[in-house]
Amino acid sequence: MTDTSSALRIVWIYPDLLSTYGDRGNVLVLRRRAALRGIPTEIVHVNSGDPVPEHGDIYLLGGGEDRPQILAAERLRAQGGLARAVRNGACVFAVCAGYQIIGETYADNESNPLPGVGILDVRSDRGRTRAVGELVADVAPELGGGRITGFENHQGRTTIGPSARPLSTLVRGIGNDERTEGAYQGQVLGTYLHGPALPRNPQLADQLLGRRVGQLAPLPPSWGERLHDERLTAALRQ
Ligand code: GLN
Repeated sequence: MTDTSSALRIVWIYPDLLSTYGDRGNVLVLRRRAALRGIPTEIVHVNSGDPVPEHGDIYLLGGGEDRPQILAAERLRAQGGLARAVRNGACVFAVCAGYQIIGETYADNESNPLPGVGILDVRSDRGRTRAVGELVADVAPELGGGRITGFENHQGRTTIGPSARPLSTLVRGIGNDERTEGAYQGQVLGTYLHGPALPRNPQLADQLLGRRVGQLAPLPPSWGERLHDERLTAALRQ
């Protein structure tokens, strides 16, 4: 058996509930960009009946429909493993429904506030319209800056509390509130971006990896950078 004790542990939370729009691509691109630098990874799939391990390095959550989103939030809160992992220093990257449920509160389809996991100081409620389309935003300078693209499809709108900061400033799209997109607090990041987000934005993938493995060797540009440039041009042309 391979010794994976020193491998970077990437934990994919609830693929049975939160896995719309190909968000699993985020898992694959992290593994790929780690492998290209000789960093071994272990991918752990945690279905909603399973406990969330507390000693992973990077935890990924995807988007989901309203009902599975509620179930996921209830189970994550009851089981507690994700919050404990964050206290242990783990990094989290959560998309759309995943982003909403790691916050303090999010809304059901009648706008009732429901409790989230509480690891990111954001609150989401329901907007009057659905936000659908291409999104372009500029990542906060303290996170390394750079322009990111993806597509969004959500009813929720998100307000950032005092302990969190916007992940990026909006150039095109709706995002949190038509001004900013996503949020971060320490090692916890949330975004509305699908695409999937990390294959479309390799610099964001490296930002996450760097949080756990430190300085990363640069990689020669590949299909990821070409995809990023192509989607950015297309989104800004619309
Ligand atoms: N149900 C949430 C919303 O509509 C999240 C949707 C999603 O993950 N695409 O805001």
